[in-house]
Amino acid sequence: MTPGRPVPPPLAKPLPAIATEENTSGTEVSTADTRLAAAYGATASDSGLVPLTIARRAPKEDDVEIAVEFCGLCHSDVHATRGEWGSQSYPLVPGHEIVGRVSRVGSAVDDFAPGELVGVGCMVDSCRECDSCLDGLEQYCENGMTGTYGAKDARNGDAITQGGYSTSIVVDRRYVLRVPESLDPAAAAPLLCAGVTTFSPLRHFEVEEGDVVGVIGLGGLGHMAVKLAKAMGAEVKVFTTSESKFAAARELGADDVILSRDEAAMEAANRSIDVIIDTVAAPHDLNPYFRTLRLDGALFQLGLPSEAMPPVNPGALIRRRIAYAGSLIGGIAETQEMLDFCAEHGVVSDVEVVRADQLNEAYDRMVAGDVKYRFVLDASTLGSPSERADV
Ligand code: NAP
Ligand code: ZN
Ligand code: ZN
Repeated sequence: MTPGRPVPPPLAKPLPAIATEENTSGTEVSTADTRLAAAYGATASDSGLVPLTIARRAPKEDDVEIAVEFCGLCHSDVHATRGEWGSQSYPLVPGHEIVGRVSRVGSAVDDFAPGELVGVGCMVDSCRECDSCLDGLEQYCENGMTGTYGAKDARNGDAITQGGYSTSIVVDRRYVLRVPESLDPAAAAPLLCAGVTTFSPLRHFEVEEGDVVGVIGLGGLGHMAVKLAKAMGAEVKVFTTSESKFAAARELGADDVILSRDEAAMEAANRSIDVIIDTVAAPHDLNPYFRTLRLDGALFQLGLPSEAMPPVNPGALIRRRIAYAGSLIGGIAETQEMLDFCAEHGVVSDVEVVRADQLNEAYDRMVAGDVKYRFVLDASTLGSPSERADV
């Protein structure tokens, strides 16, 4: 379901000016003009998502304050809030597929203006000095990028970042993306993670017309991989565990759909694919997929299951000089390139917009594979912040 024009979220409440605090690294952080925002987040790994009030810093000179309109629900949000990736700091407000409009800017910001449609993806900072950062590969920052939620924010008093299931967010201008106005804002939100995470390895492999791309798993990432690979001119084969998704995969543009447990169909795909984008969120055996790759093919693993995967057979890689690779989201410049590419090719996510009080049900449905293909939170349903911040 793609809604019409978005309803602006309720304005965050301004707080009266309060004192300057000293953080653990000794630098002063002004909390004057901090604003409270309504949010949903987890208070423990088994709490589910509950209403919370969070404090957002006043924009510093390079900051952009954004009134959030929509935020996609990524499977990573489920892994993180449920503690599936190890210890987590709570309360935790997830959300890294954020689209909204600029509400205020800091004094040094001249590239964004109030009212502009913008986006924030999976990171809100990085060291800006290492080779990766200087190469525009901030996601691989050698000193660790600052994730949009659940990360220590070194430039902001080591506060733990809180994500986009909230009515507002404040982010340094260097990590804010411009969302083309021609894109529906709700349907564009998933581009900020699912879009760029699949765009990046397709670009890295230099996919073009004539190439054959395989996509494993038809969920949030997988359906974006299909759309983007088609827009790049490739032929696309989808591997799915769900027979029920056959027709839908074809509607998305897939040229072929293969039920991954059908051994005969897997064998028929032998040596037919150049590059595979694997988006599965659970452990699975990769060896049958390597057999579908051609000489010099590559399999990019994007899914990050919380449990160990079955071992990879080295012979399967060696016999066809196959590369087994991983890939993490995309850099800031590449994310902008992806958004502009999507505007040019009319690519957006297929979304089901949900209210804040439907988030827990949406998580359960996502885990059960019952979504075509991305849930997106309508931030106008988050309500108003309470008088005091929970975090
Ligand atoms: P999703 O919407 O839940 O989609 C995952 C798909 O995997 C499902 O739709 C399903 O497709 C398939 N699947 C699920 N369980 C399976 C199982 N037990 N066996 C085989 N296939 C199964 O998740 P998502 O948001 O796309 O995220 C996918 C994964 O990527 C997550 O682990 C997430 O954390 C990770 N991720 C990584 C990055 C990165 O930078 N590398 C970025 C974002 C997300 P079928 O029904 O078609 O089989
Ligand atoms: Zn994500
Ligand atoms: Zn760096």
